[in-house]
Amino acid sequence: MKTIHNFNAGPCILPESAIESAVEAIRNFDNTGIGILEISHRTPGWERIMAETEQLWRELLGIPEEYAVLFLGGGASTQFFNVPANLMKKKAAYLQTGVWAKKAVKEAKFYGEVEIVASSEDKNYVYVPKGYKVPTDADYFHITTNNTIYGTEIKYDMDCPIPLVADMSSDIMSRPVDVTKYALIYGGAQKNVGPAGVTFVIIRRDMLGNSGRELQTMVDYRTHIGKEVKDNSMFNTPPVFSIFVMHETLKWIKSIGGLKEMNRINNEKATTLYNEIERNSMFVGTAVPEDRSIMNVCFVMSEQYRGKEADFMALAKERGMVGIKGHRSVGGFRASLYNACSLESVEALVECMQEFERIKK
Ligand SMILES: *Cc1c(COP(=O)(O)O)cnc(C)c1O
Repeated sequence: MKTIHNFNAGPCILPESAIESAVEAIRNFDNTGIGILEISHRTPGWERIMAETEQLWRELLGIPEEYAVLFLGGGASTQFFNVPANLMKKKAAYLQTGVWAKKAVKEAKFYGEVEIVASSEDKNYVYVPKGYKVPTDADYFHITTNNTIYGTEIKYDMDCPIPLVADMSSDIMSRPVDVTKYALIYGGAQKNVGPAGVTFVIIRRDMLGNSGRELQTMVDYRTHIGKEVKDNSMFNTPPVFSIFVMHETLKWIKSIGGLKEMNRINNEKATTLYNEIERNSMFVGTAVPEDRSIMNVCFVMSEQYRGKEADFMALAKERGMVGIKGHRSVGGFRASLYNACSLESVEALVECMQEFERIKK
C-alpha cells in the first residue's frame, strides 16, 4: 500500500498511538475483558479516564481552577446557541470572520440583540478585520480564532474590555493559550483533539447563572458541572468512545512536549508549505499573509494556470495526498496541517507541487 498523506479538514488525522489504544480498548478496556463500547459510564475505570482527561486539559492549557471543563455532545454548532442562552442578557458582540462565525451570529439572534462589530465577508473572509471597537455594553464578545474554511487565524490572545468567548474548534491545542483572557472557550474535538462526537467547553464559573433566563436542563452549563471532578459531564451519558480517543490524543500531545513544542512543529509545517506556495509560480495563497492560519493552508492555481487545477489534483492523488480539495466557497486547495499531520506529509505535498511545476510549466 502506498503512503497516504492525510490533509482532511475535519474529522482528520489523529496520532497513531491514539488509534492503536482505541482499537485495543474496543476489545478490552482497562483489563476488564469488556470493550469500551460495552461498559457502563459509571464504572470506576471510566470515571478515572474522565478525571484524567480533564486533568490533561488543565495541564496542557494551564486552565485555572476557577474554570470548569466540560465534554458534551452536539458539536460546536450546539454551542452556537448554548453560549448566548447561558451568557446573553440583552446584547452580544460578534466578529464575523467566516461562515462558522456567521452561523454563531444566527443562533445568538434568538436570544437578543447581536452587534456584528466587524466582518470580512466583503472579501470572502480572506482577512481578519482589525481596528474595530468592542462595545462595552455587550454581555460578551465572540470570536472564531481559526477560520477553517478560509485559512485565517487570530494567533494571539487579545485583551478585551468585556468577557471574551472563542470558538477554537480548529486551532485548540495548536499553541499555548492564556485561558485567563477568555470567559469561555469551546469547540468540536474533531479537528485537533480527537474524533467527532465530543465538544469541549471551558468556562469561567462566575459567568454562569447571570442571564436571567430560565434554561432547559441540558442547555444550562451548570447541569454538567458535578459536585466532584468525577461527576463532571456525567449528568447524562457522555460520548464515551470519543472522550477516550481524546484522552489518548492529549497524552500524545503531552508526550511530545506539550503545546509549546506542538506550536513549534506546527509553525515549521505551515512555514514549509507557505514558502513553497510563495516560491512556486503555479500557486498562490488566498489568505492575506499577516492573518494566515498555521492549521489550514488555502491556495489556488495562479491566474495563468487556472485551467490546470484538475491536473494537479490528479497528480496529488497519485502521490497519496488526501483531503486537499478546497472548500467549495473558496475553491482551489486546502491542506489542513493539524497537530497529528507530520512534517513528512507536508514535505511530500511540497515535493508534489515542485514535480507539477517541472512537468506542467
Ligand atoms: C468545524 C467547525 C465548526 C463546526 O463544528 P461541529 O462540531 O461540526 O458543529 C464550528 N466552528 C469552527 C471554527 C469549525 O472549524
